[in-house]
Amino acid sequence: MEKNIIADVFGTKVFNDDVMREYLPKKTYQGLKSTIENGEELSPEVANIVAHGMKEWALANGATHYTHWFQPMTGITAEKHDSFISAESDSRAVLEFNGKELIKGEPDASSFPSGGLRATFEARGYTAWDCTSPAFLREDALGVTLCIPTAFCSYTGEALDKKTPLLRSIEALNTQVLRILKHFDEKDVTKIDCSVGAEQEYFLVDRDMFMKRDDLIFTGRTLFGCMPPKGQEMEDHYFGSIRERQAKFMNELNIELWKLGILSKTQHNEVAPAQHEMAPIYDTANIATDHNQLVMETMKKVARRHNLECLLHEKPFAGVNGSGKHNNWSIVTDTGKNLLSPGSSPHKNKQFLLFLSAVIKAVDENAAFLRMSASNPGNDLRFGADEAPPSIVSIFLGEQLEDIVEQIIENGVATHSIKSERMDIGVNTLPSVKKDASDRNRTSPFAFTGNKFEFRMVASSMSIAGANTVLNTTVADVLQDMADELDAAEDFDSALDHLIQRTLKEHSRVIFNGNGYSEDWVEEAHRRNLPIVTNMVDATASFLDPKTIKIFERQNVLSLTELESRAEINYEAYSKVINIEAKTMIEMASKQYVPAIIKYVTKLAGSINSINTACPEANTSVQTELLKKCSDLLAKTQNALTTLIEVSNIGSSMPEGKEQAEYYRDTVFTAMNALRSPIDELEMLVDKEIWPVPSYGDMLFEV
Ligand code: ADP
Ligand code: MG
Repeated sequence: MEKNIIADVFGTKVFNDDVMREYLPKKTYQGLKSTIENGEELSPEVANIVAHGMKEWALANGATHYTHWFQPMTGITAEKHDSFISAESDSRAVLEFNGKELIKGEPDASSFPSGGLRATFEARGYTAWDCTSPAFLREDALGVTLCIPTAFCSYTGEALDKKTPLLRSIEALNTQVLRILKHFDEKDVTKIDCSVGAEQEYFLVDRDMFMKRDDLIFTGRTLFGCMPPKGQEMEDHYFGSIRERQAKFMNELNIELWKLGILSKTQHNEVAPAQHEMAPIYDTANIATDHNQLVMETMKKVARRHNLECLLHEKPFAGVNGSGKHNNWSIVTDTGKNLLSPGSSPHKNKQFLLFLSAVIKAVDENAAFLRMSASNPGNDLRFGADEAPPSIVSIFLGEQLEDIVEQIIENGVATHSIKSERMDIGVNTLPSVKKDASDRNRTSPFAFTGNKFEFRMVASSMSIAGANTVLNTTVADVLQDMADELDAAEDFDSALDHLIQRTLKEHSRVIFNGNGYSEDWVEEAHRRNLPIVTNMVDATASFLDPKTIKIFERQNVLSLTELESRAEINYEAYSKVINIEAKTMIEMASKQYVPAIIKYVTKLAGSINSINTACPEANTSVQTELLKKCSDLLAKTQNALTTLIEVSNIGSSMPEGKEQAEYYRDTVFTAMNALRSPIDELEMLVDKEIWPVPSYGDMLFEV
């Protein structure tokens, strides 16, 4: 058979089903499988044998260390490495790894954000093996490391990470969906999961240029810089052919991802110059979340091999589109059925309509919290501009479903579905193509796309765990009430019709099929009383909304203490990010821009003087005008710099919390913009030779 790179490398670094069969005795394999598939408890004996098998496999593949890989509230992954070496013999190396080491780890938790969940003197934090996400090998300068996905919690059992609530939310969703399915013809279903496909956007810039920009190094985005003559207005980058250097990067990225068992599928250029996207085939939520972390990490690593830097920030460049992550979400049964698949006659598919109305209700009632799940300081810069969903959560259903929803609201039931048509391209030799039942709407933050919802607000650098936790939990909570109602109904069919109609009637305000980027929509959203949350600090308040607390406690996903701690972490994170940005601006302005501008105006003045001396009647009005303009802007720069220093000092001396975050948002951030503006103007005037950092033009077009 012919060799194929995908088949050759796929999953070679994963402790997957094939490897487990090879390295584990049959009984152990079955024990582990039933834990993975049915959530049964794992006995210590099984754990010990699994650990042995895992070690043998890892050693056979060159591993020297193992690590519990976890996802603290920093949003990135963390790990502490231990080698397999044990002290049993002083004459030869004995390599050990047992069940205990596999199941539990104890990294010092004191240096991870906990939002007051544990004082530093109670530093204990535990990592617990998550056997539902496969272990994998990482190969880098450290050698080969066995990475074991784990959950991270405090001594008292509170979640200190992103994974634990996600796993809890999947369980909550499972419980309620199964209750609903009992009423339908789905007898064989014993478990459901949510399926997630995360499309990842990113920028690639030349690493030498990146290294010359402190703002990119320290904050991931440019804090200064103006648009070159050409931006994205020609729309020639989107889906454009991929240049050699980026192509090499993508090729290698795919291979690395395939090795890790990640189903890297789609790659293309995005709207902004130097922007690209990668989408894997969807997987179950927990694995998709772990994989997305690995995708981000691998992108960074592979880019450096090509002397490129991968930027995952939501808004690395002002003036061109930023990056996001589209979180495609659905519910699948263990019999392989997608519960959000409408089938050919959606109006008759009551089961689908019930789940659809549950999602609509969950999104409407929890719009602000869903917005929170996609909030970070970077996304604040992206929303609302003509490039990303606005700060209003609404749902796009498409023509066909919108029509059905209208029929139901008016008449109690729907009698027909708009059929999809064949498309007439007008050329006989082209095949006749069947259209989708609905067109797409790229401006909607939450769009139904055929058999799944696409949540388009998620930030590009953020873990998708939070967004999926909120989706699962809020939908589970709605389904719980629905299941209660249906369980108690005497006449199931009419109760079901009523329930669907009532739900759609009460929540149709969240459905919006128009242009989400238009000004009119903001006004309309006001009229509909939909929450409009423009920034992360305001969004954070929804953690402590009584509605959120009730739902998350009832579904056992986050306790009040955990919600409070997460709000604290958010406020702190926001303040810290803006503080770092402010400090970087101060540093760059004082040490790079101001000296360069002084150099330029001095040069100008010198040239005016020399000309005047050499030829007193020569006209130097252009130079003088430029000198005046630059000197004025320089004075403005200096003033703005002084103010920024003052306010950021005040900000960093404030106690951590909401008030501090508000101060950073309202005062420090404003002062940052005031400093940026004259410097960006100067960039257009000052000699490029003297300008101390690479320009947008250099970075976006010369990769
Ligand atoms: P587009 O950019 O047009 O939205 P892509 O093909 O780039 O489409 O991405 C679609 C994503 O949705 C892929 O990751 C795909 O695997 C995922 N997806 C498809 N079906 C489902 C589903 N049932 N549940 C979750 N994700 C899905
Ligand atoms: Mg998409």
